[in-house]
Amino acid sequence: MEVEMLETTTTEKTAGETCVVCECRKTSGIHIYTSFICEECEREIITTDTKDERYKYYLKQLKKITHPEIFS
Ligand SMILES: [Zn+2]
Repeated sequence: MEVEMLETTTTEKTAGETCVVCECRKTSGIHIYTSFICEECEREIITTDTKDERYKYYLKQLKKITHPEIFS
């Protein structure tokens, strides 16, 4: 797992983009500012209870996004 993925200026020409949450390359998902969240993670975040440990992990991952308040 790559911990620090520096933002590249080059647009990914290969299939998909790297999801900020699961750090996997996915083809479908949403963009939040400059970050990409895959469909699966988006759904997970929405359905995961805020008391769930995983939710904290998602939030942590989402903090990488320049505007961390968006999910609060
Ligand atoms: Zn993902």
